[in-house]
Amino acid sequence: MKIVIIGAGPAGVSVAETIRTYDHASKIVMLSSEPYLPYSPPAMADHFINGSNLHLWRGKDWPKQTGVSYRKGVIVRHIQPDAHRLQLDNGKTMKYDRLVIATGSRLYAPVEDQKCPACTISNP
Ligand SMILES: Cc1cc2nc3c(=O)[nH]c(=O)nc-3n(C[C@H](O)[C@H](O)[C@H](O)COP(=O)(O)OP(=O)(O)OC[C@H]3O[C@@H](n4cnc5c(N)ncnc54)[C@H](O)[C@@H]3O)c2cc1C
Repeated sequence: MKIVIIGAGPAGVSVAETIRTYDHASKIVMLSSEPYLPYSPPAMADHFINGSNLHLWRGKDWPKQTGVSYRKGVIVRHIQPDAHRLQLDNGKTMKYDRLVIATGSRLYAPVEDQKCPACTISNP
């Protein structure tokens, strides 16, 4: 079975390691839009303030140790669930048997457009 994980943040890494705990046979592919190995955003403060790499990342060998085929700098543009296929920004496609979407989230706070009693911004 080929399992593709989109995202190399804490969620994606946790999924990959958990799958490997129970399943040593499946092929795991992890895609990240970022040009780095998996890292922990919460540990960045300690890294930049104190120079500590202790909790920043799991090391260069992480893909090899976990048997994950890691592809950095690859953006998934479209998911075609009926075809079990991804369209990537490099023009290529990728098939999968199982897909994990671990792409994080972005803050969206449309306070100006909603009636919110706690808002300090005057609403229409
Ligand atoms: C500076 C900083 C400090 C923080 N400190 C704390 C803390 O102390 N405690 C705490 O609980 N939380 C903290 N957070 C929040 C925490 O980092 C997030 O909650 C956590 O990273 C979410 O993990 P995630 O795996 O869901 O998503 P993310 O870490 O956002 O990872 C998303 C992954 O998806 C990839 N991706 C997204 N879209 C695509 C696409 N289309 N194609 C391919 N790849 C894609 C990205 O490249 C990335 O690898 C902090 C965040 C920051 C930035």
